[in-house]
Amino acid sequence: MPELPEVETVRLGLLPVLVGHRLATVTQARPDLRFPLPPRFADRLRGRRVDALQRRAKYLLIHLEGQLVLLAHLGMSGRFYVVGAGQPLPPAAPHDHVTFVTDVGVTIRYCDPRRFGFMDLVPTADLLHHPRLTGLGAEPLEDGFDARTLEQGLAGRMTSIKAALLDQRLVAGLGNIYVCESLFHAGLSPRRLAGSVHGQRAARLVGTIRSVLADAIRSGGSSLRDHRHPSGELGTFQHGFAVYGRAGLACPGCTCDPGRTGGIQRIVQGGRSTFFCPRRQR
Ligand SMILES: [Zn+2]
Repeated sequence: MPELPEVETVRLGLLPVLVGHRLATVTQARPDLRFPLPPRFADRLRGRRVDALQRRAKYLLIHLEGQLVLLAHLGMSGRFYVVGAGQPLPPAAPHDHVTFVTDVGVTIRYCDPRRFGFMDLVPTADLLHHPRLTGLGAEPLEDGFDARTLEQGLAGRMTSIKAALLDQRLVAGLGNIYVCESLFHAGLSPRRLAGSVHGQRAARLVGTIRSVLADAIRSGGSSLRDHRHPSGELGTFQHGFAVYGRAGLACPGCTCDPGRTGGIQRIVQGGRSTFFCPRRQR
């Protein structure tokens, strides 16, 4: 499932082809994605200029002229791909659900085989009150996220730190992969009680969350299944995972012998896999 770095990679890829351009043509191949597309979806978008392209948590916010925002979520398998003006346009695939063509002839298609993604149209004035966006926690790469906010958010929580970091009301945009990686680099056990992460530990964790996300964005995200840059390129951060998906191997810089210690462990927390090094994460 795309997490913050994958969605940011998509945003960066769409930015140059969308912002400042008009949506000359919009076509939808079906009435719904995960939810029904809004009434007159294509009609309401057609002809509008894209003024800005933001991201909030795992949501893309495409700001259009006339105070309208196209809110898009990639779900599990959604991706956008771009075909440049004058390039041969491949026939639409069965899972290409929405197609935008800009005023300079660039085609942007939204493809989503599992159809867990969705799109909505929201008046700009209502954006902050949209049910998907209210209650979202701090953006981890912005100034509002620091040791103090994290510590306050974790104080008194009786869940594991892993579960707390997956809670989008605390920090927005983190999923399983980046939580595992951040906890490893912070030297914190995913099983540790959330409320026990304060002071130096909270400060260290903020630092590792930020650096893991920034590194992942620089690598174009992690391409495990469906994620791709809108140009079609794969992300490469999966090659840099310290622990995620590496059960039984040695963690980077580990001096232990995985043949004897078992190396990185995989456990299940809240129904999802957690990977960690029990010797270096406490
Ligand atoms: Zn280790």
